[in-house]
Amino acid sequence: MRDILPGEMGAWYFAEGLAREVANRFGYQEIRTPVAEHAELVERGAGESSDIVRKEMYRFQDLGERWLVLRPEGTAAAVRAYFESGLDRGPQPARLFMLAPMFRYDRPGKGRYRQHQQFSLEAIGDGSPALDAEVIEVAHTWFAELGLRQVTLNLNSIGDETCRPAYRDALVAYYRPLKERLSADDQRRLEQNPLRLLDSKDDEGFKAGAPKIADFLCDDCREAFGQVCGLLEAAGIEYQLNPLLVRGLDYYTRTTFEFWHGALGGAQNALGGGGRYDGLAAALGFTATPGVGFGLGIDRTLEMVSEEGEEIVSPPAAELLVLPAEAGLERAAAAVARRARELVPAAVDYSTRSLRAKMRSAGGSGARWAAIFNGAEADRRVVQLRDLASGEQREVAWDDLARTLGE
Ligand code: AMP
Repeated sequence: MRDILPGEMGAWYFAEGLAREVANRFGYQEIRTPVAEHAELVERGAGESSDIVRKEMYRFQDLGERWLVLRPEGTAAAVRAYFESGLDRGPQPARLFMLAPMFRYDRPGKGRYRQHQQFSLEAIGDGSPALDAEVIEVAHTWFAELGLRQVTLNLNSIGDETCRPAYRDALVAYYRPLKERLSADDQRRLEQNPLRLLDSKDDEGFKAGAPKIADFLCDDCREAFGQVCGLLEAAGIEYQLNPLLVRGLDYYTRTTFEFWHGALGGAQNALGGGGRYDGLAAALGFTATPGVGFGLGIDRTLEMVSEEGEEIVSPPAAELLVLPAEAGLERAAAAVARRARELVPAAVDYSTRSLRAKMRSAGGSGARWAAIFNGAEADRRVVQLRDLASGEQREVAWDDLARTLGE
């Protein structure tokens, strides 16, 4: 888990502010769910055989001996909140989004952290394929307005409970004779969750010859997928059909998608992804209810924003520093800062250093102005307002400070 420091904060404000703005523009409202959930909810949601549940969960007992987890993703929590807070009885679909930390006990590396931040979004309570296209458009808009140019949308349909069983059988029939040549991990997938073989990290070329889900879709799934594709085309959103895209979670049905970046290594390094999860609510023990959504990783997305050469400036600690030249001027200094704050962020250097030292430190702080004064000037209620870049300086009355800064 890492600290995010002031110098990076401009980029975070921009990405999260834009996420809120874009989501609101599409009629989605923010929710915030607790950072911890009952382990059972998350385990049912993510699927017992998924990597998340098997290897990546922060799972612990609280003092009441309940098993909790730090949430690894947002969807199960959003669906729980949807039912527990009565959103299921309001207008449908509920359009919700979150900006929240997610936790995965994975081996940390570049672009992979044990705590990362997601922009996640869900449309719950309506099964229309038009909503699949809508949530994809929200994500696409966010990436585009962040200025990212090298993002590609990968798209697939993984069918539903009608057509997926036959596909799963075909997949098992294809892989069974290859079992001895699979890694231990993949042998386990073959038994527990054969679809996951398609996003295996240690595939030796078997995936390419595997049966394709597109050849197995039932009429309803085929029609729904056609509608999603048509709506994306109408929205001018390019996509790449990717038959290997299955997502790691068991409750997904029909549409799955991932956003990849040119500078990342493909499937294992997506910026984000999502899909339809019509089986999730029932799997969690609620009334069967359709839903579709995404989770986009903000950490990795911002790494790609700077990879593409965009620099987002972070706010300085203060734009104006008040520098009293003598001891005992705290009250006057605070009064000056208060006036400056009518227009710009301002802070006081309360240290007992010499004025020279204060000036040097102000020069390196990123601030634009210094307001300098001694006791006699405090009595006259004036400061010397100095432009730290040009060195230009002039006397300004306290009461004129905000007006002068605004000129
Ligand atoms: P997932 O729920 O695994 O599909 O993750 C959705 C997105 O969250 C990914 O595409 C990443 O951008 C981001 N993400 C997932 N796990 C991590 C991690 N360990 N560190 C940083 N970002 C992550």
